[in-house]
Amino acid sequence: MDATMENKMGLPPPYEPTAPSPAPPPSYFGDNPPPPAGLAVPAVPPRTTVITSPAAPSDRPIKLGPGPTGASCPTCHKSIVTRVDFVPNTRTHIVSAALCVLAGCCCGCFVPYCMRSCKSANHYCPACKAFIGTYQHS
Ligand SMILES: [Zn+2]
Repeated sequence: MDATMENKMGLPPPYEPTAPSPAPPPSYFGDNPPPPAGLAVPAVPPRTTVITSPAAPSDRPIKLGPGPTGASCPTCHKSIVTRVDFVPNTRTHIVSAALCVLAGCCCGCFVPYCMRSCKSANHYCPACKAFIGTYQHS
């Protein structure tokens, strides 16, 4: 008997039967695989739908006059005639100061404060007392 032959006969076959390795799990992600774990998925902010409704009629600027003016109250939406408060404005003080200088005394200083044309007309709603706007003489 040949030693080589003996070796061949006594040794197990050079290959070992290996159990079939389990197949990789099928991908359930189809064409959209999940991103790598290292990459942060940008959070998609929820869509905010801005509804721009057409301006309500009450949003239109109200044309105010120097006196009580018929208007639609933007607060209580009533058709009203504004109540007017005349308040001194910067122009009132300027005219008063000018009269004071021109007249040389303060005799005429009060005049602008008595003249509606030198004051601002603040319009208010007589129903809800809401401030509607100011009219200033140009
Ligand atoms: Zn009102």
